[in-house]
Amino acid sequence: MALLFDEIDESMLSPMMKIYLDTKRKYSDCILFYRLGDFYEMFFDDALTASKVLEITLTGKECGLKERAPMCGVPFHSADGYINRLVSAGYKVAVAEQLEDPKLAKGLVKRDVIRIVTPGTVTDSMALEEGKNNFLVSVCLGQGADRVYGFAAADLSTGLFYVTEIKDETSLKDEILKYAPAEFVYDRLMEFSGFSFDFLEHQARHVLRSSLDDWYFEADTCKRTLLEHYRASDLSALGLGDLKQGVLAAGALLLYLYETQKDQLSHFTAISPYSNSGFMRLDSATRRNLELTETMREKNKRGSLLWVLDKTKTAMGARYLREMVEQPLVKVDAITARQDVISAMLGNYIAREELREYLGPVYDLERLMGRISMKTANPRDLIALKTSLEMLPPIVKLVEELLENNNENGSSSLLQELSDHLDPLEDLSSLIRDAIVDEPPFSVREGGIIRPGYHEEADRLRSLQQGGKEWITTLEESERARTGIPKLKVGYNKVFGYYIEVTNSYKNMVPDDYTRKQTLTTGERYITPELKEMENTILGAQDKLFSLEYDLFCEVRDRIGAEVVRIQKTAHALAQLDALASLSVVAERNHYVRPVINESDEIRIREGRHPVVEAMLAGDLFISNDVSLNCSDHRMLIITGPNMAGKSTYMRQVALITLMAQIGSYVPAMEASIGICDRIFTRVGASDDLSSGQSTFMVEMTEVANIIRNATSRSLIILDEIGRGTSTFDGLSIAWAVCDYISDKEKIGARTLFATHYHELTELEGVMEGVQNYCIAVKEDGEDIVFLRKIVRGGADKSYGIQVARLAGVPEAVTEKATELLEKLTSADINLHAKEVIQGQIASTYSFVQNDIFSLMDRMKQEQESDEKEQVLKKMLESRDLSRMTPIEALNLLYEMKDLIKE
Ligand code: ATP
Repeated sequence: MALLFDEIDESMLSPMMKIYLDTKRKYSDCILFYRLGDFYEMFFDDALTASKVLEITLTGKECGLKERAPMCGVPFHSADGYINRLVSAGYKVAVAEQLEDPKLAKGLVKRDVIRIVTPGTVTDSMALEEGKNNFLVSVCLGQGADRVYGFAAADLSTGLFYVTEIKDETSLKDEILKYAPAEFVYDRLMEFSGFSFDFLEHQARHVLRSSLDDWYFEADTCKRTLLEHYRASDLSALGLGDLKQGVLAAGALLLYLYETQKDQLSHFTAISPYSNSGFMRLDSATRRNLELTETMREKNKRGSLLWVLDKTKTAMGARYLREMVEQPLVKVDAITARQDVISAMLGNYIAREELREYLGPVYDLERLMGRISMKTANPRDLIALKTSLEMLPPIVKLVEELLENNNENGSSSLLQELSDHLDPLEDLSSLIRDAIVDEPPFSVREGGIIRPGYHEEADRLRSLQQGGKEWITTLEESERARTGIPKLKVGYNKVFGYYIEVTNSYKNMVPDDYTRKQTLTTGERYITPELKEMENTILGAQDKLFSLEYDLFCEVRDRIGAEVVRIQKTAHALAQLDALASLSVVAERNHYVRPVINESDEIRIREGRHPVVEAMLAGDLFISNDVSLNCSDHRMLIITGPNMAGKSTYMRQVALITLMAQIGSYVPAMEASIGICDRIFTRVGASDDLSSGQSTFMVEMTEVANIIRNATSRSLIILDEIGRGTSTFDGLSIAWAVCDYISDKEKIGARTLFATHYHELTELEGVMEGVQNYCIAVKEDGEDIVFLRKIVRGGADKSYGIQVARLAGVPEAVTEKATELLEKLTSADINLHAKEVIQGQIASTYSFVQNDIFSLMDRMKQEQESDEKEQVLKKMLESRDLSRMTPIEALNLLYEMKDLIKE
């Protein structure tokens, strides 16, 4: 059995192991990478875990105890890859470095943890996805009157930092999922409040979550941390004056970042408080169902809306576009500002294409700045920065050109703002150009970084080193001539330095001033006093040069780091330009139009198309369709039609066009006018959630409940079947009641598209206000059907399920039997039967209510109230024949009677 931390008798440990253990105790929740020479070593439990996860050999180390300590290690120069693997497997890694030069240390070398890497604080580019932010989210819960959730999200790799407050648990979960965090930290109150973390289980990647100690969320500490970091005098200056809980979440998050990074956070130059009132709210089911950034099944970007819209050239632009898609806007001005930029780019597509060409070589400035601020950027990163900065002057010119052009056709304030934020940063590109060679190594400690001519002393050391090297190359020739040994060679290796090598057959010709240094099987290696002296000069100069180059490199890096605000501002403007240029390209290539955006309640789309299905179908195969929705006569469209006709596609297309319009994009239609929606809700298909203990029907009803509770008259609701996961009559009754509730102006009155195979629901038109029937047309062709994909007024009465089953390859024996059964069932008129059953149910409710009515009537008699009312009620009951009534009529009668009694 391998030795574990708990089992160690500390008094017996070797001094080094004692110090190791002290460090490990401070970072007990991390795997400790302990630097020993050229390796990071892990011991005891850490070694057991890491050797398994990293698939590296487990060995042992003498530690003063009887048993050896389990140990494994990784080379320090390739540690990042191993750290990333541990972090993506959900571990935290603490990296302990040597804090002094081992050669100079008196006694044991001082070591301490210099950074902690967790999923939310990883910054290595290999571990990060280019077009995605890597968010760390922090949440805390207020008490009493302050019972709101403080919420903060930060991306350490770019320096983004958002803060807000959220009122209820459902919205909090939606907000967390919107950021798709890699890591989630929270206060202990969250745990005690019974908050369920199950919703994190279904994320594409593992989310590390942990509660932080109370002191992280202590009000004074949080306030001080934020004020000191942002050098502000009070919280209002940061826009955080009214966010009491938000400040705690943000303060704790910043403290956690300081704790893990040990001080290098200068790229966090701004904090952005926000309120959700500026964005369209989308719950996680809707995000998933509309496949905004990934497909539902394969979780691929291909097939999502983002896949169609993303023609960005830079990683920053890709991330910005993703953010736009994930949070559509609700303010007309903000939306039209984006449209104006797209329009300006469409108006001068040559300038736009040139702009995109210059964006092509631009690296991820936001992440490069993150690494520069955290002092982890290497010389190649600076060259990448230089290459990117060199694109800025032409980009600035092109944006000015777009602006000039645009000013002739009406102004774009956003384009002007972006142009103002672009800084050509020529001082920085020329600094790098002057200081760093074109192709430097990754390593910062082995020279070859600084350009000749940049620094006098570096030049002197370099020529000393090179002069020595030249002397050595000529030495070979001169020694061959002097000794007469034809195969004499001069060489170098790290252990023995410079040497003269002579093969065994010429050994006897070696002159007296040669001193033997090393014996090989094939010959001998020698040194001469002259060679030794030159070696000292070369290596001395080289050591000095390497260390000077390192210092110079750090100085350049720090000078750039000091300009972080200018670079970030420019990077953010580039990201927006790139994202908007992408939308402009897509608008042009896919023939989109600029939608009219207003505050009305009308959604009107002429010849709309589904952006993704259209892109998937080759040629012009997609059939366009119109829609007209408003809060009055076209409030709820009941959409029927055969399986596979295109109902889901049609409804999603309306939702996606609305959403695209609200992100500021052009839309796939001939004409569109969109009255802003505050939220879009979707309830689509059947999916179960077995891991959280929810059946298919339960998931469906939970989604319905969410819609009914949260939708407003400004929302857009897409219902793709309701009530299919239970018995037909339960399902139909629920679907019916949901329609009734949603379309009722007194209750919700939201614009709704409802696709269903319950053809009974088409009865609602003319009965419920604002309901209209539409169906997707098909043509019968013998036993088969032809899908016309056109939406037309009216309801369908057939689902053609068997024909679709045949198309899907269900064996003929089964489809034939199904046809036979269908004929029998149809002749028995299952619809009639359905009505009977429903009426039966209502009849039983009716008799129940009837009893109520009679007892009420009795009471009225006793209280000697007017007989008149009693008479009216009696007449009402006698005059109607319940068996001939539709369910709606029967229910209306009951309500009428009840109202009369109340009067
Ligand atoms: P079901 O009732 O079985 O769920 P549905 O009526 O919702 O079917 P969809 O899933 O919307 O049908 O459409 C089925 C397929 O038809 C889509 O995958 C798409 O390929 C094609 N389709 C839908 N609408 C159109 C259209 N307007 N133009 C061209 N193809 C379309």
